Amino acid sequence: MPSSIGNHMLNAFSPALRASIMKAGEHVSLVQSQHIASVEELQPYVYFINSGLCSMVISMQDGRTAEVAMCGRDGMAGSLSLLGPQCCSAATVIQIGGGALRVPRREAERWFAQSTEFRCYVLAWAQMAWNVSLQTSACGLLHDAESRLARWLLMCADRAESNNLYLTQEFLAEMLGTQRTTVATVASCLKRKGLIEYVRGNVTILDRSGLMDTACECYEVARKGMAHLYHA
Ligand SMILES: [Zn+2]
Repeated sequence: MPSSIGNHMLNAFSPALRASIMKAGEHVSLVQSQHIASVEELQPYVYFINSGLCSMVISMQDGRTAEVAMCGRDGMAGSLSLLGPQCCSAATVIQIGGGALRVPRREAERWFAQSTEFRCYVLAWAQMAWNVSLQTSACGLLHDAESRLARWLLMCADRAESNNLYLTQEFLAEMLGTQRTTVATVASCLKRKGLIEYVRGNVTILDRSGLMDTACECYEVARKGMAHLYHA
């Protein structure tokens, strides 16, 4: 068994705690569009993502959906399920396929109750995710589609730790809370400026600095939140 994996929260734990978690978990592959947590249901597992990216997605009665948070190698998907008795109102969907250490939620609940170290890291990640979610709620109301798409692509790249992102137009539309045609228009605009390449769902960030200039101020809030994780 490896002593560590690619997940930053897991790697921030002390060797003894990390070993306990890895012993209780199993490595699983995650494929794009896979639901790892449903709405209104206590999820059976939490996931330390090693590669790829998942999104928390709200579905409305008319079938429209919107992404409200994301988790990659930076944290533990399912952290919110440990904070209290309520079920999460968002489903968790794999946005970029990869792998994770999957751990029974019951075990995670036990560590959360008994281990100050585990609890502090989970709360630090949840606080960061909550802050980003607050910022992006305002972003969706106040900022234009191009700057939001630039911000969102940078956030995905940071969490997946890759400049090559395979993203369906449906996911991009969910992010923007808009139509697929709008996504295509905005992505074309970023492409014309030489900031990204975008071919059949394969997005490659070509000019990170230029994309940061195009992104709204909300990206900096998200970037700083991640940079300060686990270093308090
Ligand atoms: Zn914004």
